This record gives sequence, structure tokens and C-alpha cells, in this order.
Amino acid sequence: MVAGNWKMNTTPTEGKALVKAVMDKVPNPSTKVVFGVPAIQLMEIQELVKGHPNYAVAAQNMHQEESGAYTGELSAAMLVDAGIEYVILGHSERRDYAGEDDDLINLKINQALKHGLKPIYCCGEKLDIRQAGNQEVVVGRQIEQALSSLEADQLSQVVIAYEPVWAIGTGVTASNEQAQQMHANIRRMITNQFGSEVANNLTILYGGSVKPNNAAELFAEPDVDGGLVGGASLDADSFAAIINAVR
Ligand code: 13P
Repeated sequence: MVAGNWKMNTTPTEGKALVKAVMDKVPNPSTKVVFGVPAIQLMEIQELVKGHPNYAVAAQNMHQEESGAYTGELSAAMLVDAGIEYVILGHSERRDYAGEDDDLINLKINQALKHGLKPIYCCGEKLDIRQAGNQEVVVGRQIEQALSSLEADQLSQVVIAYEPVWAIGTGVTASNEQAQQMHANIRRMITNQFGSEVANNLTILYGGSVKPNNAAELFAEPDVDGGLVGGASLDADSFAAIINAVR
């Protein structure tokens, strides 16, 4: 899978043009391609990808409650009714700027799954944690707290994105070895808890400065099943090249 996270970028006009340009360049991708678009564009972009089985749309966030007095929020039911297949949850920017923690993200993941919406669950350590060598403990805790209450059949609907915070938007990518090591560790944890069938079928994306010039080698690692792409997903040529880097 290759997923783009546009974050708070593109107007609706720009977003439509970007999706059309990507789909023109890669009409039949050999992998699932997901556009993580701003809320205001969800329905319009969904219309563009409808009928193209390898293209899908993700929301960038969702509220954990069913409905109610939560001004400015979107519910899982709204997203599903609009035809949206995925929702990005637990992104480090939401952890940092909106104060989301693993307990809240766990509620959101459960709520998404209850409605048949597939979470793309983001985890990843900050630089000081990596420098202290504690990344596996910290990411392990994130996985444990956000996912441990799920059943195995629910986990088969979840995509995990490992995004080391120090690699997001910095131009510094994790080395292939660093990515592979963490992905293998995540898969091991999932094996221990949910069994090897679920773990082997699990899609684990790498995110953090994925670019056309590093995508192919990252994706070639055995436990890296694709990418969650920020900046480079905003340029049709770059995003198309990253999609084509999946073999
Ligand atoms: P960049 O690709 O811009 O580093 O962003 C990664 C990311 O945060 C995707 O969710």
C-alpha cells in the first residue's frame, strides 16, 4: 500500500487536480493507493476514485463518539456513509498538537472498526527516545495500548504505519535497516498477541521523508509493506514514482 497524507495542504480545487494527475499517471496501480485528504475534500475525492478498486480515500482524523455535541468533529458513521474506506489515527501531529494519547486513540480505533472503517494506526518514537536507544520499548507500548484490546479478526482490518517522528518532514529518512528492524519487531509483537496468520497478513507502512529516490529500497525490505507519504504525496510526479516503486 502507498498512502498519501496531505495534512493541511491543498484547496479543494488543487486536491481534485492532484488526484486526477496521479490517476492519469498510474491508471492501474499494482498496489492499493490511498489519498488522505482534508475533511472538506473527502466526498469529492471519493467520487473521483469510485470504481477504481486500487484507489481509496482516508480521513485524517475521526471522533471516538457515535454522534452528539462535538462541534467541528466527524463521526465514523459519517465517513462510512460518504464511502470512505480508511481513517488515519494516532498521527504524531495529532498526538503533539491535539494532545491525543494511546488511550484515546484506542477508543477511536474501536469506533472506526465498529463501523467497518479501516484504521491506519500511526506509531513512532521521537528523536530523544531513538538517541537513548529506547525506540522499541516506546513503540511497543504504543502498539500495546492502542491495539491490545482488539480481537484477531479486528486486527486484520488495521494498517500500522511506523513513522519515526524525527524523520517526518525533516528530509531525514530512517535507514532501510532501522525501518526493517522496527517493522520486524512490530510484526513479532502482533504474532505474539494475535498469531502468525494475522501478523503475516498485516500491512505495516513506513512513513517519514519517503521520496522517489528512497522508496524502492525501503519497500524492498521484507517487513516494509509500503509507505505513508507526506510532502512527496503533494506532487503528482513524485507520488506516482513512489507508487511505482512498489514491486
Ligand atoms: P513526510 O513524508 O513529509 O516526512 O511526512 C510523513 C508523514 O507524516 C505522513 O503521515
